[in-house]
Amino acid sequence: MSAHIIDGKAAAARVLQQVRHDVNTLKAEGIEPALAVILVGNDAASEVYVRNKILRAGEAGIHSLEHRLPANSSQARLLALIAELNADNTVNGILLQLPLPAHIEENRVLQAIDPGKDVDGFHSENVGGLSQGRNVLTPCTPSGCLHLLEETCGDLSGKHAVVIGRSNIVGKPMAALLLQAHCSVTVVHSRSNDARALCQLADIVVAAVGRPRLIDASWLKRGAVVIDVGINRIEDHGRSRLVGDVDFDSASEVAAAITPVPGGVGPMTIAFLMKNTVTAARQQAHAQRSQSEAVCLSTC
Ligand code: NAD
Repeated sequence: MSAHIIDGKAAAARVLQQVRHDVNTLKAEGIEPALAVILVGNDAASEVYVRNKILRAGEAGIHSLEHRLPANSSQARLLALIAELNADNTVNGILLQLPLPAHIEENRVLQAIDPGKDVDGFHSENVGGLSQGRNVLTPCTPSGCLHLLEETCGDLSGKHAVVIGRSNIVGKPMAALLLQAHCSVTVVHSRSNDARALCQLADIVVAAVGRPRLIDASWLKRGAVVIDVGINRIEDHGRSRLVGDVDFDSASEVAAAITPVPGGVGPMTIAFLMKNTVTAARQQAHAQRSQSEAVCLSTC
């Protein structure tokens, strides 16, 4: 068996096409979607991620504002910038690029972002809303994975999904989204007893571990659909290259469908960041309209 390769680049291009269409609709209503990106310090990988996000925003017609702070900036300075962006009605989305320098408390600053502008979906109000099945901004990577699964499998209802990894950024929100899509969900992690045996029961496997090629064919049921979130840089015959958490060659012998690395989940993350920015812009415009109508009703 040779698995169907899920083309994340093509899927992301379709999402971005819809985003562009939605941006044009908003612009016709006088709404100019804008995303503020904050980068503290000059971590090389973060620089690349920020550059790509700004590039994609431009392509989607979303105005982007880049805020760079030096690595030794105080937490107070960062909080002041976030407060300024929260209060700015022309900014719809705020993205704080992680990781932050060690002296800044990540959770403290993430909680300072207005939940309505939290396009990464990391604020506890959005995390709680997701677990309650409310319509909130959800983290981009797991949202992109869910989209790929729905495009590949159609209705996910009743399927058994195993999520490998329980981080706040990928594993936990992925499990919540799959539950919302009516899957039976098992989360395995570094302390699980026999993660491989649990994984062998899965119709759907989402690997978000950060261990190069950990999951090979022996972890998979024949016909499983495999989403590989992992991005790991390895040395291979003296050359540096990216691999996932799944051993692609071995896994594709038993899986029905599988995402490659690169070209699978990666492009979906940025596409869903743009989608969240448009959603935030639309919700804010709606809230402002309702507010002005309420003021008018009480004063007219
Ligand atoms: P993390 O380090 O925060 O979490 C890893 C999780 O894997 C932990 O919950 C841990 O319990 C679990 N784990 C570790 N070893 C295990 C094992 N042997 N068996 C089972 N579980 C094990 O990582 P993260 O932030 O969730 O990222 C995971 C991977 O996804 C990384 O490679 C990261 O680079 C990648 N990633 C990719 C994107 C993207 O856009 N494609 C976005 C975010 C993260």
